[in-house]
Amino acid sequence: MQSYDKLYIDGRWVAPASRETIEVISASTEQVIGSIPAGTSTDMAVAVAAARGAFADWAATPVADRVLWLKKLSQALAERSEEIALTICAEVGMPLKLCRRIQVGLPTAVLQSTADLLGDYPFEEEVGNSLVIREPVGVVGCITPWNYPLHQIVAKLAPALAAGCTLVLKPSEIAPLNAFMLAEVIDAVGLPAGVFNLVSGYGVPVGEALASHPQVDMLSFTGSTRAGKRVAELAAQTVKRVALELGGKSAALVLDDADLPTAVKATINGCFLNSGQTCSALTRMLVPVERYEEAAQLAVEVARSFSVGDPFAGEAKLGPLISATQRERVRGYIRKGIAEGAELLLGGAEPPAGLDHGYYVQPTLFGRVDPQATIAREEIFGPVLSIITYRDEEEAIRIANDSDYGLAGAVWSADQPRALRVARRIRTGQVDINGGRFNLLAPFGGFKQSGYGREFGRFGLEEFLTFKALQI
Ligand code: NAD
Repeated sequence: MQSYDKLYIDGRWVAPASRETIEVISASTEQVIGSIPAGTSTDMAVAVAAARGAFADWAATPVADRVLWLKKLSQALAERSEEIALTICAEVGMPLKLCRRIQVGLPTAVLQSTADLLGDYPFEEEVGNSLVIREPVGVVGCITPWNYPLHQIVAKLAPALAAGCTLVLKPSEIAPLNAFMLAEVIDAVGLPAGVFNLVSGYGVPVGEALASHPQVDMLSFTGSTRAGKRVAELAAQTVKRVALELGGKSAALVLDDADLPTAVKATINGCFLNSGQTCSALTRMLVPVERYEEAAQLAVEVARSFSVGDPFAGEAKLGPLISATQRERVRGYIRKGIAEGAELLLGGAEPPAGLDHGYYVQPTLFGRVDPQATIAREEIFGPVLSIITYRDEEEAIRIANDSDYGLAGAVWSADQPRALRVARRIRTGQVDINGGRFNLLAPFGGFKQSGYGREFGRFGLEEFLTFKALQI
């Protein structure tokens, strides 16, 4: 059991205002593995005051010092990486090998890469008779989800600290233990009191208290579009800056000249990663109608290789979903897909055989999905791929863009300039060309209802900076 009964505020572990707690459940065993305080708006007010109190000094620290703090944090996180990977594996259910590499490896790398780019970031420039200065935006409220819990926290923490902001974190109540471990790491390295504060609890009341607090200058939110809209509404009352990283329904456009086996394999990998619980998951695969049979057959072969099972055991490529609620949601979508007439190529709504505990679902493939069908339009957040056919390139682009979301996408073609031309017409924040790798220094974020604001690299840092002009 990993139980935390205190919140991290102003450089100390402090007792919360209420005794109420939230249990943390293992995705693979359904057992209680820990508990955290259910914070209140009183706790949030104390944490915001601490962040506000620490702001002036932290904003005034030399950049070189902040670089050192980020490096220290990266190192200290790396030292506890195995322990944190095991915790996230239990909380989220992603296979342990991937937890090590992605859930812990990525945030460790983000702290380091932020330190690296901060060193020579131009905070000042002269424009005519003005000295234009980039200053930290102020006290930042961070609200994060459960699917890549530590990565999503660090995607805000690293650039916020780098910019000179102080922050209050409200992590997901569903996978929160890693956030407490991060607070221990921050405490151990001795970051100045009040620069980082942690208040756990539910979206209502603590998330809302943070979003509406008048002493918070900016709110950085990652999560569902539903909660993102609410948070933006609350933040608007005190004219806060808001950054929203929300859901997605990303398309992989496989053009008629593409290397089909490679494209199909990569798309399924991108769809099934973390059991499909990835905001940028490639959940729609668009294939030319004349290559549908071939694509469907390849997809079934690849998807069959995604063995489902215990994320700790080492063999399974797919772990469980995060929770019973999520499992029911995903099963509901699978039933709906069938009811709306899509061709079920693999999987289904029944639980996978031989797994009595844990929130497992079968990897599922649908073929000839109508672009207007629910499963082609809504974010499922499970290992469910919709294969959609198109007649020509124009139609493929139109279908890809016919979405409320605009987070990510992929284009596959033997002709690289053609792939680039098509990618330029996709209305999403990122597009991978012929399997282009994830780049930690490139901006990540949404168009349309996938949100606004960007994370990572220089672009992520700039979210937390504001301009000031001094006329000389
Ligand atoms: P969620 O919106 O339910 O919760 C996210 C966070 O918001 C949690 O900390 C939650 O407590 C808090 N919250 C909920 N309601 C709130 C409210 N009214 N006021 C303030 N805070 C509130 O999302 P989730 O289920 O944790 O995560 C899954 C969603 O996140 C998916 O839709 C996914 O696409 C999205 N996501 C997006 C990205 C991205 O970068 N674009 C990354 C990961 C996840």
